[in-house]
Amino acid sequence: MNELARKLLDGDRAALARAITRVESTRAEHQREAREILTEVMDATGRAWRIGLTGVPGVGKSTLIEALGKHLTGQGKRVAVLAVDPSSSRTRGSILGDKTRMGELATDPHAFIRPSPAAGTLGGVAKKTRESMLLCEAAGYDVVIVETVGVGQSETVVADMVDVFVALMLPGAGDELQGIKKGILELAEILFVNKAEGENEKRARRAARDLEAALHLFAPASPNWNPVVLTGSALERTNIDTLWETIEKHREALEGAGELEQRRRGQQVRWLWSLVEEAVLSRFRSDEGVRSAAPALEEAVAKGTLPASEAAERLIRARTGPD
Ligand code: GDP
Repeated sequence: MNELARKLLDGDRAALARAITRVESTRAEHQREAREILTEVMDATGRAWRIGLTGVPGVGKSTLIEALGKHLTGQGKRVAVLAVDPSSSRTRGSILGDKTRMGELATDPHAFIRPSPAAGTLGGVAKKTRESMLLCEAAGYDVVIVETVGVGQSETVVADMVDVFVALMLPGAGDELQGIKKGILELAEILFVNKAEGENEKRARRAARDLEAALHLFAPASPNWNPVVLTGSALERTNIDTLWETIEKHREALEGAGELEQRRRGQQVRWLWSLVEEAVLSRFRSDEGVRSAAPALEEAVAKGTLPASEAAERLIRARTGPD
């Protein structure tokens, strides 16, 4: 058995960190080893509760993760925190770039925090995070929180790798609701209006009511769960227990109806095909015949002298290598 895989299954944090580094590496031999480790630990995956968390920068994601994380480690649970942030190098790490942001959790022996992998395509970053999540599960973590700032399509990608998707909201008034991406309301099964303390509390409750009303416009993502809107304060750590109870209720509802297993199966199969598509496309693009034919065909399509459909057909026929 692979040495890293063996240590990781023993719950060795350093081995987990090194295995994730293999997953994140672009070197062929590291990728091979990452696949070997993943294959070996596969039986030990799937036990964690996978939670996605999104919200605009400044809404309080890291503060909330710290509060929720401490709540959970206080109950004896082991918590891993990962991030999907394809913009991390551009914006110099909009999430988890600075380890001090979750200082208390970072030094907790029952917690494991891993910053977002270096920027790449959303698909590439998501693949690494998904594989890292499996490694965390194999290392014995009970809860994996995947954080995203919701740039572009990242919420959709994260929602498709977790069991429940939580959106953090600001206690803005009704008109600010218009700025909320429709996608969030379609994906989130639990919404938490943060910063609901002191003078903000009333506004937060109003925001929660507005959100509830807005949610009625969408069909719920699950037949077994209606989205729940909560208010609370990550900073003062109020209603963090209610948030966790709601996450547990959601799990019970889905598990009881057999939806959890079904959801995960669907996610795995979609992931399989997205990996295949990526690999096939990458081989196709690097094919010699395709590479030499592409510039002229692209030019013809750009100028409008050749329909894209015909150019695509010619490009496919230009392939010289085997499939
Ligand atoms: P992130 O960018 O979403 O990760 O947000 P942070 O967790 O870094 O929080 C952004 C700012 O909001 C920080 O100054 C936090 O201290 C503050 N903050 C976070 N949660 C709360 C809260 O519940 N109430 C108040 N008043 N401030 C908060």
